[in-house]
Amino acid sequence: MNPTPTPMMAQYHALKAEAQDCLLFYRMGDFFEMFFEDARIAAAVLDIALTARGEHEGEKVPMCGVPVHAATAYLQRLIKAGHRVAIAEQTESPEAARKARGSKALVNRAIVRVVTAGTLTEEALLDSRADNWCVAIGEAAGDVALAAADVSTGRFVVIALDQASVPAELARLGAAEVVAADTSGVAELATTLRPKAEFDSGAGEARLKRLFAVATLDGFGQFGRAELAAAGGLVAYLDHTAKGALPFLRAPVLHRAANTMAIDAATRESLELTQTASGQRKGSLLDAIDRTATGAGARLLAGDLGAPLVERGAIDARLDLVRHFHDDEAEREKVRAALRALPDIGRALGRLVAGRGGPRDLGQLRDGLDGAWSLGERLGSGEPPALLTELAPRLRGHGELIDQLRRALVPSPPIEASDGGYIAAGYDLALDDLRDAGAGGRRAIAALEAEMRSNTGVAALKVRHNNVLGYHVEVPARAADALMKPDSGFTHRQTLAGVVRFNTPALHEVASKVAQAGAHALAAEAAHLEDLTARALSHREAIAATADALARIDVSTALAERAAEGGWTRPKLVEEPCFDVEGGRHPVVEAAVARSGGRFVANDCRLSETSRLWLVTGPNMGGKSTFLRQNALIAVLAQAGSYVPAGSATLGMIDRLFSRVGASDNLARGRSTFMVEMVETAAILAQATPRSFVILDEVGRGTSTYDGLAIAWAVVEAIHEDNRCRCLFATHYHELTRLAERCDALSLHHVRAREWKGDLVLLHELADGPADRSYGLAVARLAGMAPQTVARAKAVLAKLEAGRAKTGGLAAGLDDLPLFAAAAAVEEEQCDAIRAEVEAIDVDALTPREALDTLYRLKALA
Ligand code: ADP
Repeated sequence: MNPTPTPMMAQYHALKAEAQDCLLFYRMGDFFEMFFEDARIAAAVLDIALTARGEHEGEKVPMCGVPVHAATAYLQRLIKAGHRVAIAEQTESPEAARKARGSKALVNRAIVRVVTAGTLTEEALLDSRADNWCVAIGEAAGDVALAAADVSTGRFVVIALDQASVPAELARLGAAEVVAADTSGVAELATTLRPKAEFDSGAGEARLKRLFAVATLDGFGQFGRAELAAAGGLVAYLDHTAKGALPFLRAPVLHRAANTMAIDAATRESLELTQTASGQRKGSLLDAIDRTATGAGARLLAGDLGAPLVERGAIDARLDLVRHFHDDEAEREKVRAALRALPDIGRALGRLVAGRGGPRDLGQLRDGLDGAWSLGERLGSGEPPALLTELAPRLRGHGELIDQLRRALVPSPPIEASDGGYIAAGYDLALDDLRDAGAGGRRAIAALEAEMRSNTGVAALKVRHNNVLGYHVEVPARAADALMKPDSGFTHRQTLAGVVRFNTPALHEVASKVAQAGAHALAAEAAHLEDLTARALSHREAIAATADALARIDVSTALAERAAEGGWTRPKLVEEPCFDVEGGRHPVVEAAVARSGGRFVANDCRLSETSRLWLVTGPNMGGKSTFLRQNALIAVLAQAGSYVPAGSATLGMIDRLFSRVGASDNLARGRSTFMVEMVETAAILAQATPRSFVILDEVGRGTSTYDGLAIAWAVVEAIHEDNRCRCLFATHYHELTRLAERCDALSLHHVRAREWKGDLVLLHELADGPADRSYGLAVARLAGMAPQTVARAKAVLAKLEAGRAKTGGLAAGLDDLPLFAAAAAVEEEQCDAIRAEVEAIDVDALTPREALDTLYRLKALA
């Protein structure tokens, strides 16, 4: 039993209390150690041995550790597993502690940094092709706002939005970490909660002014209180994780959600813009189009796809630049080759600002800025498009800095500064002298070694170096006797198994000179590193602007490359609400079809004011979803400033894009999927405007035939009559085709299929008019269902169809249903009866069967 904890344990517990729910990396010499519950968690995640050390309150203390030199890889795994890690470093050397507080003194330690998913700058911890956003949610007086920072590049945006759009915006950013006040109403969206006081708008404003050393924030835009709360809360959090050494933040850019196409989280997910439903990049639209040559370009492209523009001028400026590179293949190739050779200067700068940079980061700035300069020279000539005229000058800057870095640094400087050797010869004559002295000393030591060998006759004599003894003479034990003699000139230092070590006055003298020269040289290099870093950082904004310009050029050339590769076309954007795509294709499905040796069938989509709503029917697997999605993707690509996979495209600007896919077999999966489908569909009906574009795939599928058809019917009517947006609606409810007779802007289309020698052939080709019949049984056969089962199904179908013909079918009576808008005319009495019936329903208690019965009853009342 040990009732009073050791001083070390007391120190540990104090630091752990400060670290709160973070794992604590406690530095002990060459290791970071973890104790107690932290050790158990880390040992499991990292798959390392869990040991024990001493006792605490009568129990053995669980412990595990990772070597400091390999800590990054372990950190990466802990962060990936969703943990945060507080790093407690030794803040003095053991010698200093002993000198100050006696021989048994405990080394002082302090948390110097909290490593979290949203605050990383290390190359090894980041995906070079994805932004890494840390997002804070701010609230004030009923308003909300987001502030997002990627501290690896210094990007800092503040986003004004309404509360309902918060999940969509977090999804768009793919936030690595979401911070909110612990009392916040949106706390459930956050991964990290912080004290409410840090999200005070007044304090936030003051914090921002201090950070950017300005008297007013007006120069950055008009910030509302919620925006100040978000930005202030974010800065406070970054300050907390970096323990006062605030990472790189550029001036905040104010975003209004209205400046980009609104795409909610469900739409983003269903269209698989930047990742697939299972969270992979592979298989997404981004993956199918990304031909960028640099990490910064890949990050910008992902951002562009996530936030298509709504201003025609800005889109056309991007498209002009893509065309410039599209039409000039030789130029495109040269620019792409130049880009490929460039290091990621944005992230190198981020590391330098955060104080985690080293010589190699400066080397990357040198090479990156130098490359940018040459590129700027080449791009600025001739008659470039407007956007290029704007970008080129940003590439040609920093001449003095490049020049200095070129003179100062060796061609490939090391990552760490600790061993020196990164300052080039000729940059500092005093440093050169120190190095000469060191090299001379080492030559002198070699000469001394040869001399001692011949004097003593011990051929195996060697001069060695280690951290404890410094330079010393080592001989095999069997040859040590002669050197042990008092007059030999050798002083005995150490006897080990097999070897004996000595020193001599001559060796000592030369060795001290070498050591001194080495230490002075290291110090001189460190001073240069500090000076060069400070110089580079004094241009941080301009360097970041150069990095941005390079990324934009990369994206433009990459889109041009993709367009050339796939025979894509430049979309024409207009204000009228049309959507005229000839020969459209789906970039992801097309690639998959091509891989399996097939050929993708291009299809037209011609929506206009008089034909706003297309109802698409046809067999399963016939290509309905693909057709719907390819048109939504074409809209996204066009407004993001890309060419599109089509023969030609004239597109009316879209303010909001919606995509919904009906839930399948809800009876098996419970009510929730159908519920989700209905909630999402309701959101479309509430939000879609005449400038919106909506695709609905089998909505209503997630419930029984009758209510499914009823819901689909009502949704189509509402979109046609109220929302008046452009819409593609795929359905297997053949009955819906009757809506064509009463909705004048609705037209019927189907995907073609043919039965040939008893087999179903899906043509994936869109044609006008409704599908002539259902091919369900043929699809079942195609899917490999046993022939006897298919035969049985055929017999059942024949019976059903005969019955349907007699009763007038599923949609009997729909013909005299008044149109949606006229529904108000229903007799009041009838309404009351229905209302009473509805109120009596206990929805949660219904079985699917009872639900169906209830619907029949309700229908009878109507
Ligand atoms: P549906 O929605 O009608 O059930 P899908 O759109 O999911 O059908 O398409 C099913 C499969 O058919 C796709 O995975 C793809 O392999 C193929 N397909 C779809 N559209 C095309 C097309 N236009 N050209 C060639 N193959 C296609």
